[in-house]
Amino acid sequence: MTGRVLVVDAVSTNRIVLKVKLTDACYEVLQAASGRAGLEVARRELPDLILIAPDLPDIDGVEVCRRLRADAPTRTIPIVMLTAGTDAAARLAALAAGADDFLSKPCDDQVLLARLRSLLRAREAEAELSLRETTGRELGFAEPETGFVAPALIALVAGRSEGALRWRSLLAPLLPHRLVVQSRAETLADTGPAPDVFVIAADLDRSGDGLRLLSDLRSRAPTRHSGICIALPGGAPDLAATAFDLGANDLVTLPFDPQELALRIETLVRRKRLMDRLRASVRDELRASVRDPLTGLFNRRYALPHFARVADRAHAAGKAFAVMVLDLDRFKAVNDRWGHAAGDAVLVEVARRLGDNLRAVDLLARIGGEEFLVVMPDTGLAEARGAAERLCRIVEQSPFALPGGAGMLRVTLSIGLAVGGVAPEVTAPATVAEVLTRADLALLTAKAEGRNKVTVSMNAA
Ligand code: GH3
Ligand code: MG
Ligand code: MG
Repeated sequence: MTGRVLVVDAVSTNRIVLKVKLTDACYEVLQAASGRAGLEVARRELPDLILIAPDLPDIDGVEVCRRLRADAPTRTIPIVMLTAGTDAAARLAALAAGADDFLSKPCDDQVLLARLRSLLRAREAEAELSLRETTGRELGFAEPETGFVAPALIALVAGRSEGALRWRSLLAPLLPHRLVVQSRAETLADTGPAPDVFVIAADLDRSGDGLRLLSDLRSRAPTRHSGICIALPGGAPDLAATAFDLGANDLVTLPFDPQELALRIETLVRRKRLMDRLRASVRDELRASVRDPLTGLFNRRYALPHFARVADRAHAAGKAFAVMVLDLDRFKAVNDRWGHAAGDAVLVEVARRLGDNLRAVDLLARIGGEEFLVVMPDTGLAEARGAAERLCRIVEQSPFALPGGAGMLRVTLSIGLAVGGVAPEVTAPATVAEVLTRADLALLTAKAEGRNKVTVSMNAA
């Protein structure tokens, strides 16, 4: 994995040592020798990750971290503080200032690189989603922010349940979240909502089996995006590197400092929520891009490739498929007489009636202003004609209520029908475009012959 890493350290030999290690691992390294220079380079270059030493000549490392977090462009860049020795207060201060992690010098190279890979992977996914969300927002698919934030669900998984119970009593006073103790089996049972964050002991029943649980959780859909923190026995650099590479988001060393773990959990919850929000908005955006906002039906962009797939499958399976093009009769007059809003209401109700009278496998789409498409897989001519006539009837049969109680309106539609794939009526194989053109021509005939009727394409296919 490549990425650009900014090293902020006043001591040039420290910077050089890190530069050599990181360059070896294929990272591009930027350097700054003071807090002020670090802030400036970070804002200008927007690196993928920042390493900060605590003792800087001008601005303290923790303060640099805080300022990077307060500034929108640098807010989400992962930050790792390099702390000297095991000064617990300094570590807590770093986490509280928004650092993702700290590493005590001298730190194991393997752990350092595994940690960077883990943070950069998360960062890449986040950047990709943000980009798509921004595009979505520009296209108008904004998602309203909600004020209330429900507590997160945190699962604690330790070897003997007493262990996890003790964890809970230590953490509960420090976190506003729901903390549940789970056994390994419960964690994999998939009952109830997936936890936002797991804290898992590296050793459960046997040494290292917590890491197997970690990779199980990562491979399952409900927990794939949960934050996972692994609690390691002291002095196990090999396990630490493996844990990050298996997908851990964070590590603590046992016995943990409750305040430190609480801060780490809060960071994981924050990142998980950000990612959930991004994923949801990308999903909404994708959904919106294939739907017609007025009727909620699929749009042309979705319908045509879907139609092509249905046709391919029919040819492969030696089956028939049917296509209808439906167009409302004299709809311009409805708008002219009753206004556009009334026209819209009619379109919505027509879409509802059509949808209610088709099978789940049939595709119904709005492909033009007052024009719809129906694609019926595995359907021959007789069956399709019956369905089309039923659709004409259910539109004609009961009048449409105009908005605001302005009265009732009779609406009719005309349907052009064609059959493709393998069917007795199909004399020569036809492309999707040809079948669609035939349905269009049949529709014109229906209009010419007086409307409110179904016409079958002359040569059926
Ligand atoms: P025909 O029976 O030949 O199909 O006559 P028509 O009036 O339905 O056909 P034409 O194509 O001349 O007019 C279609 C009208 O549909 C034009 C426009 O006023 C209306 N229309 C298209 N899209 C919308 C829409 O989204 N909302 C509303 N209210 N009207 C629409
Ligand atoms: Mg039309
Ligand atoms: Mg029309």
